[in-house]
Amino acid sequence: MADLQFVSSRGAAPALSLSEAIATGLAPDGGLYIPTRLPPVDAAGAAAARTLPGVARAALAGFFSGDRLQAALGDIADAALDLPAPATRVVGSQEPLFALELYHGPTAAFKDFGARFLAESLQRLESRAAAPMTILVATSGDTGGAVAAAFHRRPWVRVVILYPAGLVSPRQEQQLCCWGENVASLRIAGTFDDCQRLVKEAFGNPALASRHRFSSANSINIGRLLPQMVYYAASSLDLERRTRAKPSYIIPAGNLGNAFAAVWARALGFPIARIILAHNVNRTVPDFLQSGIWQPRPSIATLASAMDVGNPSNMERMRALYPTLSEIREQLSADCVDDATIRARIGEDFMRYGREWCPHTATAAEVYARLSVAERRAHPWVVVATAHPAKFNVIVEPIIGKHVTVPDSLERLLRLPQHAVDLPPTLEALAAALT
Ligand SMILES: *Cc1c(COP(=O)(O)O)cnc(C)c1O
Repeated sequence: MADLQFVSSRGAAPALSLSEAIATGLAPDGGLYIPTRLPPVDAAGAAAARTLPGVARAALAGFFSGDRLQAALGDIADAALDLPAPATRVVGSQEPLFALELYHGPTAAFKDFGARFLAESLQRLESRAAAPMTILVATSGDTGGAVAAAFHRRPWVRVVILYPAGLVSPRQEQQLCCWGENVASLRIAGTFDDCQRLVKEAFGNPALASRHRFSSANSINIGRLLPQMVYYAASSLDLERRTRAKPSYIIPAGNLGNAFAAVWARALGFPIARIILAHNVNRTVPDFLQSGIWQPRPSIATLASAMDVGNPSNMERMRALYPTLSEIREQLSADCVDDATIRARIGEDFMRYGREWCPHTATAAEVYARLSVAERRAHPWVVVATAHPAKFNVIVEPIIGKHVTVPDSLERLLRLPQHAVDLPPTLEALAAALT
């Protein structure tokens, strides 16, 4: 069989190999890379594996087949996915309910899986390049920290983080600024949209782009999506063994990278029943599923800030693979949760189950609570816990009335000194800071 090719969701860019698509990030026509077909999975190998790296080898081998990185897949998976991702039973629930805990990585959010896998992949493609590359990341909170942690102290790369002053939580800010060395943290006097605009302007400036060899590590990179399939593959197999039924997932969603990975894992044949997206009041996707009209809009600030996305870019991948509304509706349903309800859900589930949810995870817990009893009994349900509540202690602690224990890895980062540089939101200021 010919090697797998990756094409743009917009269809107007040359087909690339996997490693080229990883190194390129966004396709030159503005689209997102998707494979021309879904490769077969080594189902027996995945079922026999008991670790995430083991499941990754079996689930992802087809994507890497014939690629420059084929021989390295095992090493990449061992180095990047050596993180716990347990599906823990929610004790006290009458029906079978689990939390898929994706927050045990260095920056306590699921983005660690994708950022680490991307870093290990790029390391094997880039580390002998003549000049270091510069990864520019605009972040509203979690992405910048995960990317910094994954790329810190790798000599072939410099990471430049742009984040909006005053608009990230104190602990998120610490995770964006505690690195130094090859990581620069720029605190921009503006909004997240200003940060994104500056990154686009820098990429579009030929002099800057050639001097710095810019690259991006945002969630549209296929190298972040592939590893996110692995925890759905592994947890669905694990839960099917434990409960003798296919689990359904409720996923806190913003740009839909995490949710799309679940859809793909199911398309590859992993035992997943339903997939429901939980959004905050940024309702572009739920409105689309209802009306069939795709209407991106400016983002609204919420307590679940990592999901404040008005134009979720991974929908483009979804629509390329499932071109009609009825096909998309077969794959997904979606619901919205406002801030008052996020707070109420954090309080209620702490009282009822003793579970501490971050505001993002609480949207999924709320969508679960809205299911009918018949639906809750139909199969095991999994609330996907995307970040540790200690990262959002300022929101969570007053609601539950107690201190949230900080995981050791986060505690270490909280003790480091900060290195942020304040900048106005202009390209001249960014260009000066890059030299
Ligand atoms: C990024 C993020 C999300 C949203 O994930 P998408 O892949 O953008 O849909 C949800 N929760 C947390 C904690 C995040 O950091």
